[in-house]
Amino acid sequence: MTQPDINGHFDVFGGQYVIETLMPALKQLDAEYEKAMKSPKFHRQLQRYHSTYIGRPTPLYFAGRLTKAVGGARIYLKREDLTHTGAHKINNTIGQGLLALAMKKKRLIAETGAGQHGVATATAAALMGLKCDVFMGARDMERQALNVFRMRLLGARVIKVESGTQTLKDATSAAIRDWIGSVKDTHYIIGSVVGPHPFPKIVRDFQSVIGHEAKFQVMVKEGRLPDLLVACVGGGSNSMGLFHPFHYDDEVAMVGVEAAGLGISTGHHGAPLAKGKIGTLHGSKSYVMLDKDGQVMETHSISAGLDYPGVGPEHAWYRDTGRAEYVAVTDKEALAAFEKLSRLEGIIPALESAHAIAHAMKAAGKMKKNQVIIVCLSGRGDKDVTTAQRELGYEE
Ligand SMILES: *Cc1c(COP(=O)(O)O)cnc(C)c1O
Repeated sequence: MTQPDINGHFDVFGGQYVIETLMPALKQLDAEYEKAMKSPKFHRQLQRYHSTYIGRPTPLYFAGRLTKAVGGARIYLKREDLTHTGAHKINNTIGQGLLALAMKKKRLIAETGAGQHGVATATAAALMGLKCDVFMGARDMERQALNVFRMRLLGARVIKVESGTQTLKDATSAAIRDWIGSVKDTHYIIGSVVGPHPFPKIVRDFQSVIGHEAKFQVMVKEGRLPDLLVACVGGGSNSMGLFHPFHYDDEVAMVGVEAAGLGISTGHHGAPLAKGKIGTLHGSKSYVMLDKDGQVMETHSISAGLDYPGVGPEHAWYRDTGRAEYVAVTDKEALAAFEKLSRLEGIIPALESAHAIAHAMKAAGKMKKNQVIIVCLSGRGDKDVTTAQRELGYEE
């Protein structure tokens, strides 16, 4: 019943496509993780950080004005934007930080693109008194100078990666190389439900707090399960965190929203589930954006968090089995939803989350008034206001 199987497969997806020298580290991590999951002490610690540090449970908010404006199903927002550091990524880094402590590791490493996962990892490291090195492409360091400073302020070292395209892909490879040599005292925190087994499983489980809470909260408020779940998909962690606890509830439909960027037909997007091919990237098999020569394509999205050419293997499996449906929303549609939610509810969403809002509005309009949608509001939009200001033309 439970997925993945012991080798990390979700049917043909997932697995461990890594060099032999990494296998002992992955084996050790899986064993330690399973041990931690059976430890009441581990769960007590995690629970304590949830309630006193992250700010959980996050509210399930009924978006009354948005619902009224759309004129269809009742729209609820799962408020991950209200967590410490302002997005769901902290659920994973605190969980894996505790795992590092349980394994008696002294150092955390992470890869980061825009810096959001780097900041969340540096936060966990500061909280737990662990050393922290974050690998970041040279180009990204220039573009995201503020997040580089945040990480340094939190006590992390930011290691500049100057190989390849000097972005997330190369930072990930550099982090993996470091881990091969440092695994004895170092834990590598991957930022989404991607990478070799057991990472997709571990990240999913730590993010599943989103779905478990939402399920309980909607039962209290509506007395029944929702008809539809909607969440944006970059690597796929906030969406899988919401979806997974509803996996066996057949009456609950799920839609993952990828970035259509400038439009799927332009080739400038971040939608491997809509337009990718089966391939391997960063140690696991899934849908990947590959060109006709099999090379990983450059992606585009207005939101940094959705600007990734791969996607978690469990989503590939959900897609092929039909358990979830995947759609794509353009930069323009996401910006319109960003503005709409701000005006109607006083909530400025992350541009990633605005993709989910845009689709939820489309879907709600076609549903009945007594139906219920839960949208994962994965993060707050403070980080995106400069981009939005430029794109929406507010400058006077
Ligand atoms: C990183 C990020 C995402 C995308 O990552 P997933 O693993 O797909 O959840 C979405 N929303 C926000 C706010 C992010 O920071």
